[in-house]
Amino acid sequence: MQRINDRLEQFYGVPGMKAAHADPMRSLVLTILSQNTSDANSFKAFADMEREYPAPEGGIDWDRVANAPADQLARVIRTGGLANQKSERIQNILRWIQREYGAYRLDALADMDPDAAIALFTRHKGIGIKTIAVVLAFSSGADIFPVDTHVHRVCRRLGLVDEKSSAEKTFYAMRPLIPEGKGIPLHMNFIRLGREICRARGPACAECPLSGLCDFAGGRQ
Ligand code: SF4
Repeated sequence: MQRINDRLEQFYGVPGMKAAHADPMRSLVLTILSQNTSDANSFKAFADMEREYPAPEGGIDWDRVANAPADQLARVIRTGGLANQKSERIQNILRWIQREYGAYRLDALADMDPDAAIALFTRHKGIGIKTIAVVLAFSSGADIFPVDTHVHRVCRRLGLVDEKSSAEKTFYAMRPLIPEGKGIPLHMNFIRLGREICRARGPACAECPLSGLCDFAGGRQ
């Protein structure tokens, strides 16, 4: 993995950490909204929610979101897709956070063991391992390697995990392989590689900085 990381950093550079330390509440809800849709749609849905339920001090009034009529919230976030399902899940999760932590805040995540946080949060519908791993990595400073659809595809093609490995299994299989401190940079470079070169259809292996290290260069998809 060190060689893979080094080649990607030579090719793309070390990714900036602009998104790191974002508010974990915002990060969690935004990641739920991003499920099964594009970044543009989920950002729009989030912005619409922020406009509809503003907090006096800025940001979102999470209490109003949690207690809004479900069909109203679904209308507000409709550009994010699966609006009825997502509104119900977001409200259930917000109410649980309020009960669990006494406020609509997730600062406690930064002090939690990542595995304990994953076990606790994935009990809730709408929070899979990818979702909580993204929050832990980008908002709570955990050195963790979230596995989204692009990362999953690249890991399989490189032969780092079995071709049939699920995203969840891939997440656990990759954890001991990630060089220390490289969870987020490697995640971001894998996403960029997956979007630009190791595309779902027609990977451009001839342009790939990892072609010499890849089991499937130019071969199976
Ligand atoms: S060599 Fe091809 S299959 Fe392998 S990681 Fe690069 S683009 Fe993907």
